[in-house]
Amino acid sequence: MCRHLAYLGPPVPVGDLLTRGPHSLRTQSWAPRDMRGGGTINADGFGIAWWTPTQPASTEPRHPGMLLAGIHTGDGPTGGAGSRPTAHRDDDRRDPASNLGTREAGPSRYRNAAPIWTDPAVDEVLPQIYSRAVLAAIRSATVGMPVERTACAPFTHGRWAFSHNGVIPDWRGTLTAVAAKFDSPSLLEAESMTDSAALWVILRGRMESEATPDVALREVVRAVAELSPSARLNLLVGDGETVWATAWRHALSVLVGEEFVVVASEPYDDDPRWQAIADRQLVVARPGWLSVQDLDIEIGRAGS
Ligand code: GLN
Repeated sequence: MCRHLAYLGPPVPVGDLLTRGPHSLRTQSWAPRDMRGGGTINADGFGIAWWTPTQPASTEPRHPGMLLAGIHTGDGPTGGAGSRPTAHRDDDRRDPASNLGTREAGPSRYRNAAPIWTDPAVDEVLPQIYSRAVLAAIRSATVGMPVERTACAPFTHGRWAFSHNGVIPDWRGTLTAVAAKFDSPSLLEAESMTDSAALWVILRGRMESEATPDVALREVVRAVAELSPSARLNLLVGDGETVWATAWRHALSVLVGEEFVVVASEPYDDDPRWQAIADRQLVVARPGWLSVQDLDIEIGRAGS
């Protein structure tokens, strides 16, 4: 089973979230502690998304067309949604880092389908990028699913990033039915032919219409579990300011400090503040703040 992690707090080198602690995400790729029978290692790639400030005025592209193409429309590599703010430009000039983590831009992303331990960018590139908000995942491909970059979480859309730790048995049938129920965007929009990528199309569809992320997560977990009661559905969503996560038949832990929060499949160190999240819970987290609610879904409770 894949492992994932989200961080919100003071700016950190984004690569640090992959290598931090004696049981870092990178270490979990070859020595995870809790796979629940879903494979033994997470060697089928990894990915990391981070939210950065809108571009400081001092580094604006000279050609306004570039600005329009790259930032205003959200068509650039960040896939950002929303318009460029002007109110903080003076602040940006004084201290570009002061604007880290604002939500105008969508996340940037780096993914590789190779084992994380083989990629030098983890040590040589990603530590040079700073962010207040990071979401990362390492992958153990479910049997029958492709091993390719586009199958590696995080999946992104607008300002959102998403990871799924788990599996949906009979995912094609189950998710076709769930998509019909929610009038979802076409599942052909899935980046890869995997349960996780298709699930993201459904979930983001709900979040784009009327549902808030917590409501969307509850609805989608319930709908999938009804049709596929043995599904494992640890979902992780971030928008650069808040993290939402479900614990549904897999491990989840949270570390909350005064100014930060980490939500992770497995603790990366032995900090006594780590809290194991019970099964069937919905976590909503912001720096220094945590809410844990019962998902309140009875499906599959006995013998699942
Ligand atoms: N089923 C998903 C995939 O194949 C997630 C796998 C996992 O959690 N191990 O990508």
